[in-house]
Amino acid sequence: MPALAIRNLEFSAIRITLPTVPVFYECQRCTACCRWPGIVRVTDEEITRLSALKEISEREFIQRYTRLAEDRRGLVLTDNTRGECVFLEGEDCAVQSEKPRQCREFPNLWNFPGFEKICKAIPRDVSDEAYRRLTGADSSPISVVDGILPEARVPDNVAQESHFKPIIKPFAAS
Ligand code: SF4
Ligand code: SF4
Repeated sequence: MPALAIRNLEFSAIRITLPTVPVFYECQRCTACCRWPGIVRVTDEEITRLSALKEISEREFIQRYTRLAEDRRGLVLTDNTRGECVFLEGEDCAVQSEKPRQCREFPNLWNFPGFEKICKAIPRDVSDEAYRRLTGADSSPISVVDGILPEARVPDNVAQESHFKPIIKPFAAS
């Protein structure tokens, strides 16, 4: 186990990798994520596929269905008059087969704290293989915990030194 020497104090740096049972959130097509305020970013490749699906030129697609993101870092889909995604038609996505990656990966590969309160996707324990197949992820989720074993208590004056804070704060606080 590697040891860190901070002045005269000895700590053991550890990394624990915990296996996690993969959870796959099965979308229930409630369309809440197509309705809530927000943006859907689209890449050049997605615009190519979406314009082909709509059987219009990329130029026309960009003019009709996209706008510049507020941060000016690429294009996002426009909204309809109710503030929903422009491709929401009733209870369906009009571009389901070519929907942008951002839509395909929610909520399994990205989400936000509290998303379960709005999203109706049902969490199911699945095998590693099933998780990768269903999400397209390269690997199953793991939990990685970095820490330092408190072989010695950290004096307050050491804990206050800003360049040590990130690694010794958990033990200095107690
Ligand atoms: S592209 Fe389709 S899935 Fe994505 S937000 Fe719009 S309607 Fe919903
Ligand atoms: S909010 Fe969740 S359950 Fe509803 S359509 Fe989006 S991903 Fe599926």
